[in-house]
Formats: sequence, C-alpha cells, structure tokens
Amino acid sequence: MTHKKPVDLGITEEIVDEFLEALWLIEEKTGVACCDRARISSLVVGEDLVENEEKADSILDQLVKFGYITLAGGKVDFTPGGRERGKNIIRRKRLAEKLLAEVLSVGPSETRTSACRIEHVLSPEVTDSVCSFLGHPPTCPHGKPIPHGDCCKKLAHHMRPLVMPLTDLDPGKTARIVFIAPRDHGRMDRLSTLGIVPGTEILLHQKRPAFVIRSGETELALDIEIASEIYVKQIS
Ligand SMILES: [Zn+2]
Ligand SMILES: [Zn+2]
Repeated sequence: MTHKKPVDLGITEEIVDEFLEALWLIEEKTGVACCDRARISSLVVGEDLVENEEKADSILDQLVKFGYITLAGGKVDFTPGGRERGKNIIRRKRLAEKLLAEVLSVGPSETRTSACRIEHVLSPEVTDSVCSFLGHPPTCPHGKPIPHGDCCKKLAHHMRPLVMPLTDLDPGKTARIVFIAPRDHGRMDRLSTLGIVPGTEILLHQKRPAFVIRSGETELALDIEIASEIYVKQIS
C-alpha cells in the first residue's frame, strides 16, 4: 500500500493549507468550533482559491480522506491533526507579518501580502526562534492572536532572544541562518544562489574590513549592510 499524499489526488499542499486556514479564520470569527460546509465553500470561492463550489466540495471530501477534517450533517470541523496544522499555518503567517512590521518597518496594510512572500524564508523549523526573537508576541500587526508554540510555554523561565543580526555575532563563532530580511528583493535571490539561505550553517571569520563568512567550502565577503539583514542563531 502506498501512502497517499495530497498532490497524488490533484491538490497541492498549498491548497490544503489555504483550506485549513479558511476554516481557522471562520472559527476565529464566529467563536464556534465547526461551520457549515456551504460557508467554507463560498469563502474559498470568494477568495479565488478554487473556481467554484463544486471544486471546493470535492477538496473538502479529500481533506476528510487525509484526516484533516470531519464532515457530519453538513458541518465541517477539524480533526486534532488538522487543527494542529491549521494552527501552525496561522502562527507562521502572523509571525511573518510581525517580523515584517518589526524588522522591516512595513505598514500593516502591506504586511498581509508581503507575509505570503516571506513565508518561504520562515521555515517551520525556525518559527520558534523567530517567535522568541520577537519576544513571543501575542498578536499580529492587525491585532489578531498569534497561536502559541512550545517556545511560548517556556516563557515562564524567560527565554533570551536567540536570534541576532550577523553583525552582532563574534568572529570565530558558528551560527545558523534563521531568516534573511533584505530591503531589496534582488539581493535575496543573489544570496540564495550563493547558498546563503535560512538553515545554512556559517562560520564568521572576520568583521573587518569586510564580513567574511564560510559556508561549507565557500568563503564569502559581505558588506555590513547585507550582514545586518542576515539573522542568525549562534551554535558554538
Ligand atoms: Zn495579521
Ligand atoms: Zn514563542
């Protein structure tokens, strides 16, 4: 027996995410833990996620098969696994918005669209580091609650922000890139072609006269402006 992934049935992981997000938003708005099938269908059609309600219905049926939601008497509800996935999507999106607002001073009206773009720089693995870096913010720039992660539960023990700009790292230290906040999008592409992407481990050789980092076999010189846009977590 093969393990069926969403993509095998003609829907992408993104569509799964969008549907679970839509269900989460309805629940948040109404304060009720399940909603009418028709309501979620019309919402996803209204947002242009799918062409029509028929398609929306067939995706809902697939989400039942994948074990993300239950459908009973025309009501849609999360399974525990679906709720966990939905929570994580919302958490990443709203933390990304917060990150844009705090680090890049992007206004709340722009953060919603930009947050979609920045999602690929905020991988699930680094979400808790970003949350800690931002001081476990309770809400996004639009005032919507950010679901808690494991890092927030440890808050009682006071977690120091573990993420810092590369410019604050001491020479000779090794760190992992958590996220990159470029003021210029082309720069992000250039960095990624050089292998400077979130998750990469780097060693900081020197800070003067230029920043020199080593990543694997590659040694790179960066100017201070770029170094200040690369946020890292020190490893050793
Ligand atoms: Zn928001
Ligand atoms: Zn947290």
